[in-house]
Amino acid sequence: MKKISVSDIRNLVKPNIRNLTAYNAKEIPCRVKLDANESPYGFDITDEILKAVKTNRYPDPEAKTLKKIIAKNLRLNTENILFGNGSDELIYYLITVFGGPVLYPVPTFSMYGLISRSLGEKRIAVPLDDEFDLNMEKILSVIKKNKPNLIFLSSPNNPTGNCFSSERILKIIAASKGLVIVDEAYQPFSSEKGFLPMLSDYKNLVILRTLSKVGFAGLRVGFLTADKEIISEVNKVRLPFNLNSISQAVAAESLKNTRTIKLYIGLIASERERLLNELWKIRGIKPYPSEANFILFRVKNSDKIYQKLLKKGILVRNMKGVIDSCLRVTIGTKNENDIFIRALKGVIQ
Ligand SMILES: *Cc1c(COP(=O)(O)O)cnc(C)c1O
Repeated sequence: MKKISVSDIRNLVKPNIRNLTAYNAKEIPCRVKLDANESPYGFDITDEILKAVKTNRYPDPEAKTLKKIIAKNLRLNTENILFGNGSDELIYYLITVFGGPVLYPVPTFSMYGLISRSLGEKRIAVPLDDEFDLNMEKILSVIKKNKPNLIFLSSPNNPTGNCFSSERILKIIAASKGLVIVDEAYQPFSSEKGFLPMLSDYKNLVILRTLSKVGFAGLRVGFLTADKEIISEVNKVRLPFNLNSISQAVAAESLKNTRTIKLYIGLIASERERLLNELWKIRGIKPYPSEANFILFRVKNSDKIYQKLLKKGILVRNMKGVIDSCLRVTIGTKNENDIFIRALKGVIQ
């Protein structure tokens, strides 16, 4: 039998994949987990929900029950909704279907760039301005010159936490012949109402939402809303059973608890304001205001502070390489936030 060596395998790999590194989502053991913008509040899964799941049957490929609930909650038509196994999968599909050039501001959510790279599409990253808002001069000139097929705008933006000016977003939608995807993963925590009400006004507007940041990260349920023509194009590449039965059932049932979900979102938003105030008081820390469930802050020796926090069992996100000298902390429960603040005060001296 012919032996295949490691280098032979590498040579089989497509050139644009060969030099990639896998997304670093490794689990770091910790006591207080504030690194991944998850909700500190989970939801119970009742036996009743689980018993109704048929393990031997494929899931509903259209996730009709869940779709109806979300359509009703957000006042959308079901034909304008498409589910993904997390919104990450939908980003993958959008770039697969429409291709590049893919334009996005930086710093922003890393997936837009990573997925473009793995699909071999051209990426154009435009730095945000000093206020972390969209640099219109540069973006409009790139639109004119490079005609991006896709523009990804995370608003509120991860990791900076601010919403982009809606006026600027609207200008970009109007100027672009390609699709503009407004990623509203953090919209529930924001004081702005987002772009869903404008969906029918713009054919090239796509809005991404997810349940991940409001207590359901483990289910992997994201969805996009767009014109039905866009939906039917994306449906051509969507894997037929991308949303499993358990996630569909649990999400559909849990979303009935609208009051509890809203209560938790409110708690997180008020804790965010409290944490922001506390951070302002610490010398050597510069926190940035946030419309999301996390706070970005600048600190000298961010690497050292990150490590010292981790030694105390507190995990935050080190933004090195994305936005230097910055750490990003997810809003936890009141108790978790207190532990974090106390530890940070201790390690900063
Ligand atoms: C977390 C995050 C997502 C990913 O959401 P999933 O639905 O969990 O895949 C998408 N966009 C932004 C900006 C995020 O921060």
